[in-house]
Amino acid sequence: MKVLVPVKRVIDFNVKVRVKADQTGVELQNVKMSMNPFDEIAVEEAIRLKEAGLASEIVIVSIGPVQAQETIRTALAMGGDRGILVTHDGETEPLAVAKILKEIIAAEEPGLVILGKQAIDDDCNQTGQMLAALMGWPQGTFASKVEMADGSVAVTREIDGGLETVKLSLPAIVTTDLRLNEPRYASLPNIMRAKQKPIDMKTPSDYGVDMTPRLATLKVEEPAKRVAGVKVENVGELVSKLKEEGVI
Ligand code: AMP
Repeated sequence: MKVLVPVKRVIDFNVKVRVKADQTGVELQNVKMSMNPFDEIAVEEAIRLKEAGLASEIVIVSIGPVQAQETIRTALAMGGDRGILVTHDGETEPLAVAKILKEIIAAEEPGLVILGKQAIDDDCNQTGQMLAALMGWPQGTFASKVEMADGSVAVTREIDGGLETVKLSLPAIVTTDLRLNEPRYASLPNIMRAKQKPIDMKTPSDYGVDMTPRLATLKVEEPAKRVAGVKVENVGELVSKLKEEGVI
């Protein structure tokens, strides 16, 4: 069974994001970019399936600027087999990404597609769900456990107040939650080896997909600054302060 893993290049999660002066978006110049953390978890899960003899090949896909090749290389160094880069400068909205993935699925015929539950830059949490709808495939979102069986996959999902386990017939779509696994670091020899692994270069027009954004960003603002707190000596003082502030 082939496994397809879409990975997005996003601002590194350690970077303190700065809003552009004209409030049209966030600063991307000279900012460290990395693989979306949920996608690292997706790559790790695919590798574990391969190591367990349940997957035969892992294909990594990214839609983004040419620099997204680095993101694909990271996934290949972790253990992916080959990559497909669909080059596009500018926003990649979930519907357009899902349409491209649909065409790649038609060509590659994977048994399983593992995506992140959300990209930490746009926080959409939509692509996996849209792809499942476009394909007419079952989906197991927010997976904290994935267990393959003959012709199906059991996905344990993190839901409000507990866990739910669903059984999906293959082919299927899974999206990863934080607790599914801990992604491995790529070793130096594997980073070197990954340089030899093939990456197919494509464009959205190869798949007949129009990338024109459907959403316009009106304004991006910094969160309100938090004001400093005050220390009180005892409960009496706390209560009178709260009364003064009109909290109680
Ligand atoms: P989103 O719906 O934007 O929150 O993204 C959810 C997941 O879809 C991500 O974790 C990725 O697995 C995948 N995805 C979204 N955008 C891209 C992209 N441009 N290239 C590759 N995968 C993507």
